[in-house]
Amino acid sequence: MSAKGADSRASWAASDLVTKWPGVGPSRARELENLGVRTFEDLLGLWPHRHMDRSVITPVEMLRDQESATVRAVIRRVQYDRFKQLLRVELEDGAWPLGAVFFHAAWLQKQFVPGQEAWLSGKAERRGGKFFMTHPDFQILKPTEQPLLGLVPVYPLSGSLKQSFMQRLMQDIVPRFAPQVGDPVPPDVQQEEGLMGRAQAVLYQHFPPSQDMLEASRKRLVFDEFLRIALAVLIMHRLDPKIPGLAQNPDGPAARAFVASLPFTLTPGQRKAWGEIRRDLKSQRPMARLLQGDVGSGKTVVAILAMLAAVDAGHQAAFMAPTELLAEQQWQVLNRFLGPLDLNCLLLTGRDRRAGDAREALQQGTVPLVVGTQALIAERVGFSKLGVVVVDEQHRFGVKQRARLSLKGVYPDMLVMTATPIPRTLALTVYGDLEVSEISGLPPGRKPVETVHISHKERKAAYAAVMAAVKRGEQAYVVCPLVGGDDDEEGSGSAKAAVDLAQGMEKLPGWRVGLLHGKMASKEKTEAMARFRAREIDVMVTTTIVEVGVDVPNATVMVIEDADRFGLAQLHQLRGRVGRGDAPGQCFLIADPKTEQAQDRLSAMVRYHEGIRLAEEDLRIRGPGEILGMRQHGVTGFQLANPIKDLEWLQRARQVARRLIESDPQFSESGHQPLWQWVREALDDAMPAQVLH
Ligand code: ADP
Ligand code: MG
Repeated sequence: MSAKGADSRASWAASDLVTKWPGVGPSRARELENLGVRTFEDLLGLWPHRHMDRSVITPVEMLRDQESATVRAVIRRVQYDRFKQLLRVELEDGAWPLGAVFFHAAWLQKQFVPGQEAWLSGKAERRGGKFFMTHPDFQILKPTEQPLLGLVPVYPLSGSLKQSFMQRLMQDIVPRFAPQVGDPVPPDVQQEEGLMGRAQAVLYQHFPPSQDMLEASRKRLVFDEFLRIALAVLIMHRLDPKIPGLAQNPDGPAARAFVASLPFTLTPGQRKAWGEIRRDLKSQRPMARLLQGDVGSGKTVVAILAMLAAVDAGHQAAFMAPTELLAEQQWQVLNRFLGPLDLNCLLLTGRDRRAGDAREALQQGTVPLVVGTQALIAERVGFSKLGVVVVDEQHRFGVKQRARLSLKGVYPDMLVMTATPIPRTLALTVYGDLEVSEISGLPPGRKPVETVHISHKERKAAYAAVMAAVKRGEQAYVVCPLVGGDDDEEGSGSAKAAVDLAQGMEKLPGWRVGLLHGKMASKEKTEAMARFRAREIDVMVTTTIVEVGVDVPNATVMVIEDADRFGLAQLHQLRGRVGRGDAPGQCFLIADPKTEQAQDRLSAMVRYHEGIRLAEEDLRIRGPGEILGMRQHGVTGFQLANPIKDLEWLQRARQVARRLIESDPQFSESGHQPLWQWVREALDDAMPAQVLH
C-alpha cells in the first residue's frame, strides 16, 4: 500500500462509510447495507453467527463419527447432481478421503476448484467406511493466502458476499475501531457483576483469544442488551405515576347485551380469563395484561368484552392488528358480533382514502370503537378518551409501539393477545410488567385437526380430500411457500408457487379457485377474502399470508405444499385456520423432507396439536434460540441474548436496572450520563423527550 493510502487510513472515523475500505465498491456496499451496515461502526455490531475452532486441526484419519472437527484437505473432485440438487465435493488429506455434501447449493460449485486446499469445519459422519460432512463451514485457500487461525468468526452473508471477504474486512476494521467503543455501564456495576469492558467485549466477540474469553465477551454484551431494555421498561413504567388510568365498566349494558347475543356460551377457559381481565378493567390502575390462548381458543370474544367495557364507561377502545388484511377481517368480525348492539366501529388503515374523516371522528370522540393497523399509532391519530387497547398477535409489536400508543390516551388499559406461549420472564422483560392470563381449552366439539404427512407422489390423496370437502359444501386452503407468477424467486428450486398452482387448478371442473398472496394490492386481498368468506370461492390458493388469525369456520381442509419449507410455528398457525367450526378439520403436509430437522418438524405436527406441546418440540429440535419463531418475528429484539438460556443474566440485569433507577432516578450523576444517552436511544422514537424527563 502506498504511503498516501496509509495516511488516509489513519484519519478514518468510525462514522465513515464502509465504502472507504478499498475492497468495498458499490455492489458490496449494497449487500452490506442489506445486513444493516453502512459505516465502520455498524460493522462492529455485526456479530458473527459462531466461530470455527481452527486452533486444532484434526487429521482425517483421526476423525470420529458424530463429532465436530476442523480438517484441512485438498479438493479432488466436484460433482453436482442437478436432479437431487446436491453438490458433492471429494477431498483428500494425505491418503485419507473425505466427502462434503451441500443441498440446494449449485452456486457453491464454482468455489471448489480441484487442486486447491480447503478448511472444513463441521460434524463428521461415517458412512461406508468414509467420513462426510454435511454443509460444513469452509474456506478455500488460494495458494498465496494466509489462513486465519484460532477461533475464526463466521459472519452472516448477503447476496454475493463471501465469508473470506467479510473476515478480511472485519480483521482490518474491528481492531482499529473497537478501542473507541464507549462504555455506558458505570465501572462499579461492571466490577460487581464481574464484566469485562465493552470495548474489549466487542473485540473479543469477533476475534476471541480463547473459548473462555469468547464466552466472557458474550456475557458482557448480553448483559448490556438486557440492561438497556430493563432500564427502558422501568422508565416507561414510571412515565408518570400521578396520572391514573381510567376505570372501565365491565358489567355495563353493552357487555351484557353482547354476551346475551352470542350463539354460544363462554368456555370455562374464557370465563376464567375474562374474570381476571374484568377485575383489572374495573380498577383505575392501568391494566397491562397478556392473554395467551392456543389458536382457535376464542380470544377475540374476550377482547370484544374488554372493548365494550370501555364503551360502557363512556371511553373509546382500539383494536390493533398486525396487517391490513387482518385489521379488515377483525373489523368484519367485530361488526358481525356487534350488529345487534348498534355500535359504530371504524376501520383505520394506512391507505384508506377516508382516513382523514376517521381521524377526525376519533379525535372528536364521536366513534367509540376502532380497528386498525400500525396506522393507529401514527403521529396524526388522536383519541378523545382512549380507555382500552387490544393488540392482536403481539409478536409483531414491541415495547416501543406499546409506549407510543400509551401516549395517545391518558394511560389506556392494554390487552396483548397471542397464540404463542411466551415464557413469563420474557414477557416481563419485553413487555414490562405484563401479567398473564391464559385461555385453556378449546370451545366444545372441536376435534384436533387430523394431520397427515404425504410425499409428493401421494399428493393426489390430498386433492381428493379437497374435492370431497367441496362436494360437502365446505371449503379448503392450499398453501404454497412461494407467490410465483412472473417473479422467479431466487433459490426456489422446484417449490410450488401459488400463482402457478392456482392457474393449473382453475382448469379443473367443479371448483371455484381463488388466489391470495402478499404481492396483491390491499383491495384485491380484501376482496378475495370476502369472496371466500361468502363461499363464492371453494379453494383458496394462498401463501403464509393466511398464517395469522384468518377465521373462516366453513374451511375444513388445508393442503400445505412443500411443508418442509415452513417452520413449526408457521405450520401450527396455518393448521389453525381449519377445524374452526363444527365440522372436523384435515391437514395434509406434502413434503419429501431432506433434513432430519424437517422430518422431525413434520412428525411433531402429525403427533401433537397443542401449541404448548409444539413449542416444546420446537425447542428440542432447534435448541432454545428460536422458540416458535420468536426471533424470526423479531419479538425479542435481542441480538446475542437468548432470554431463555441467559435467564440468570436477565435477572441480574433487571436487578441492576432497578438499583440504578432507585439510586439516581433522573440519571443526574455525571457517571450515569452515558447510560442515559444509551437508554434514551432505545426509547427515542417511542416517545417525546419531555415525557421522559
Ligand atoms: P383465536 O383465539 O385463535 O383468536 P377466535 O377468537 O378467532 O380464536 O375464535 C375461533 C372461533 O371460535 C371463532 O369462529 C369464534 O366465533 C368461535 N368461538 C369463540 N368462543 C366460542 C365458544 N365459547 N363456543 C363456541 N365457539 C366459540
Ligand atoms: Mg385471533
